[in-house]
Amino acid sequence: MSDTLPPYSGDNPTCLKCSHQGAITRHRAAGEHGSGDIATFGPSPKGERLERECWRCDYVWDETLNPPEEQRPA
Ligand SMILES: [Zn+2]
Repeated sequence: MSDTLPPYSGDNPTCLKCSHQGAITRHRAAGEHGSGDIATFGPSPKGERLERECWRCDYVWDETLNPPEEQRPA
C-alpha cells in the first residue's frame, strides 16, 4: 500500500510546486488522515508514512518511512 510512495528526501527536499528547499516532516500512522486529505468518518486508506509540508507554500506530500539502517528489514 505504501510501496508507491517516494523515498524520504531528507531535511531539504525541493518542493514540487514552488521549488522552495525545505519541508517539515510529520509521522502519520496507518489509517491516520493527513493535512491534505479530505476528512471522513472512516480511517484513511493510507498506510504508515511520513508527511512532508513545504515551508513556503504549504504543499503536502507523503514519503516512505526512513528508519535507521540497522532497523530496516533485510
Ligand atoms: Zn512549496
